[in-house]
Amino acid sequence: MLNPRYVEMTSHENIIRKISAYGKERAAQIGYENVFDYSLGNPSVPVPPSFNEAIIDILRTKDDVTVHGYSPILGISEARCAVAESLNRRFGMNYEERHIFMAISAAGAVAHALRAVLSEPGDEIITFAPYFSEYKPYVEGAGGRLVVVPADIDTFQINFDAFRRLMGPQVKGILINTPNNPSGVVYSAETLQTLAGILKEKQREYGHSVYIISDEPYRELVFGGKQSPYVASFYPNTFTCYSFSKSMSVPGERIGYVAVNPECEDAANAVAVFGQISREIGHNCPPSLIQLAIARCIDDTADLSVYEKNKEILYNELTRLGFYCVEPGGTFYMFPRSLEPDDAAFCERARKYDLLLVPGGGFGCPGHFRIAYCVPTEKVERSLPAFRRLAAEYLG
Ligand code: PLP
Repeated sequence: MLNPRYVEMTSHENIIRKISAYGKERAAQIGYENVFDYSLGNPSVPVPPSFNEAIIDILRTKDDVTVHGYSPILGISEARCAVAESLNRRFGMNYEERHIFMAISAAGAVAHALRAVLSEPGDEIITFAPYFSEYKPYVEGAGGRLVVVPADIDTFQINFDAFRRLMGPQVKGILINTPNNPSGVVYSAETLQTLAGILKEKQREYGHSVYIISDEPYRELVFGGKQSPYVASFYPNTFTCYSFSKSMSVPGERIGYVAVNPECEDAANAVAVFGQISREIGHNCPPSLIQLAIARCIDDTADLSVYEKNKEILYNELTRLGFYCVEPGGTFYMFPRSLEPDDAAFCERARKYDLLLVPGGGFGCPGHFRIAYCVPTEKVERSLPAFRRLAAEYLG
């Protein structure tokens, strides 16, 4: 018999995949250029040239056994050192190789961090709406219960009153995502300071550690030449989970890391613990070739400027039309309020104009919808009449 928990999960369809599948069907009928598919968060720009050049050079110059062999369980030393040096240089941290664990992208990094902090039945992880919908299976698969703090829908910063009500000794970790999928909002330094202050107070009260698991795949996708405040610099007990998927446009290469704050209580052991977790979950030994390549171009990103251009066009037009939307500070998402309370009905109505939007309910924030604007700018421009016709149905 198959595990009933997973069998049950197969009956819940992934709404984003379903919308994207519909988009492909529709494109076969009316042409790809006529479908405005804003469903999937897949990077749409080429990788930085240095990444491909590094791979070619590694293949030419290094021996096959190293390049195509197993990675050490904690990661290849060159990659771990490159990550530590880059984080120290950019964010004033003090990481050493021993604080860095190479992982299979953000999904693999978060899987390790969650298992490291969840140990007893009834343990909880708190996250803040709107949140990445995969957090539920990530947390439940690690043996925890996901508790969602309702959104502050006027700012999409943290709703601290609700957070304080839900916080208790059973909470072992806080899973945060900034810059945020789906809102595009970057948590401010003030938000992170307040969060850190509450957690320090709660750790003292409960007599045990409460970790921040900071899921940061969009850290480099910040607009206006700004930098996203570095979460670990606000709170010692932080595991930083990073992925190169979005910043380098390499989601298929499955590469990322967990950086253990050298100031955290378990700094001496955490990476070794992640190595043991890898043995159990099979999310182990990220590809050696890709680790070697990353080590050579650690600070490079794809040309991410198209996302900011798309954000400007959509944000200006949608707010002009009368949508309420918190302006994204980064990512390639925005999360406006739907023009009727039923976000699913609103997105269904948008389909009439071949505008494929994702309802906010799945992100723990009904009454909103997500636009993933990682699409060519000319397509964004051609989609504006569809938004106008949709808005006219509600606003006249
Ligand atoms: N976390 C967030 C917030 C995401 O948006 C995604 C992917 O879209 C992931 C984690 C998973 O990223 P990866 O594909 O790098 O594992």
